[in-house]
Amino acid sequence: MITVEHLAKAVGEDKAPVLQDIGFQLEPGEFVALLGPSGSGKSTLLRCLALREKWDRGNFRVDGTDIMKSPFAGKRKIRREWAYLEQNAELNPNRTALKNVLIGQASQTPLWRMATGMVRSDDYMGAMDQLDLLGLLDKAKLKTSQLSGGEKQRVAIARALVHGAKVILADEPVTGLDPKTAENVLETLRNLCKETGLTVLTVLPIELAERFASRLWVLEDGRIKHDVKGRRLTSQERLHL
Ligand code: ADP
Ligand code: MG
Repeated sequence: MITVEHLAKAVGEDKAPVLQDIGFQLEPGEFVALLGPSGSGKSTLLRCLALREKWDRGNFRVDGTDIMKSPFAGKRKIRREWAYLEQNAELNPNRTALKNVLIGQASQTPLWRMATGMVRSDDYMGAMDQLDLLGLLDKAKLKTSQLSGGEKQRVAIARALVHGAKVILADEPVTGLDPKTAENVLETLRNLCKETGLTVLTVLPIELAERFASRLWVLEDGRIKHDVKGRRLTSQERLHL
């Protein structure tokens, strides 16, 4: 269970408020789509939750642990168990898609494994399965510098899943994907949420959000203005999107 209360953050020299009072509770297995006009703070909120950015005030608890009050244990938990997927996937460009999936993000992987690139042979099967699920089997042996933006994004998702991420924060993961691939990626995530209790918080276009997410948040004026479960948005709720 993730609990956030009164999270606020101002940015830039003029300290413009981006997040003003964000509050929510998230249960395992939820698939939340974050909606809001450009500049409404969606990326900022994801980066704060991924501990990539500081915020000015607010409470953040995960499974009862106050992340700010027990900074070491709390932050380590997030760095190990959560995956943050940026708009432009952070991969090692000189390694193949398969190796990127196997090695994992720096925070999830022992240093010796990062340095040597060594993996256990049975890990290969899991990684190949995951790449297959995400439609990347034929790209497994290519260096990620040779992949398109959408393919890199899918490698990053495969990597998060192989390393047992419990929470995935993904910023526009299907932007740039063709519609069929986008649907496959979202279906994979939705099934994992249902079957394994994976929690996903992601920025999606509204049409896909309404089809795949179990919960919709509309960000406006630095707040979650609408929090909707199990139905589409009303025309009033989607007015500013
Ligand atoms: P979204 O992802 O919803 O489009 P962002 O979270 O990227 O919105 O940005 C929200 C607002 O905060 C934008 O106006 C953006 O220019 C501003 N912003 C974000 N980070 C910074 C920063 N480090 N310095 C100055 N302005 C920033
Ligand atoms: Mg953004």
